[in-house]
Amino acid sequence: MPSPAGHLLAGVAVAWAAEAFAPRRFRVLAGGPAAAAPIVTPLVLASAALALAPDLDILLASHRTYTHSLAAAALAALAGGSMARALRVPALATGLTCGLAVASHIALDWLGHDTSTPRGLLALWPVSSAYFYSGIDLFADISRRYWKPEEFILKNAVSVARELAILGPVAGLAWWARRRSVSSRPVAPERQTSA
Ligand SMILES: [Zn+2]
Repeated sequence: MPSPAGHLLAGVAVAWAAEAFAPRRFRVLAGGPAAAAPIVTPLVLASAALALAPDLDILLASHRTYTHSLAAAALAALAGGSMARALRVPALATGLTCGLAVASHIALDWLGHDTSTPRGLLALWPVSSAYFYSGIDLFADISRRYWKPEEFILKNAVSVARELAILGPVAGLAWWARRRSVSSRPVAPERQTSA
């Protein structure tokens, strides 16, 4: 499975892609000039956190089960949408982005190498209780055996470098699309209201 660095990068890419698609809806422009659009917005922070969150199940000794599922992505979408509604920001677009952030974690794990038993993750729970494993091994395993420095440091460094080489261009593309999208939509002047 990918490291937190890989998942974080994927979460950021999801948010940047969403903001590229709808910069006004997400208030990326925030009323200022396009060049001043912040790289990190509340949506980017939320998406990055949600892309990392499924692995908290390691603390519960139930790794790659319910938090790595369709239900978890749907729950994140519902929670994100509800919070957005309360904060008076677009609920549907925010909810979809939050759900996709969790889905990005599931997709990356599915594409990664896995030596655990059973292999794979409960990706479609509760629709299916089967464990899904792609076998593609696009991402290498991350070792948690800190008592083996050569494995914990060197092997993990190679694995993280591989993730960054794969996901860096994806995030870069999302950032480029967002920047282009923001630049092509200048801020409309404030409406003048007559007394
Ligand atoms: Zn995971």
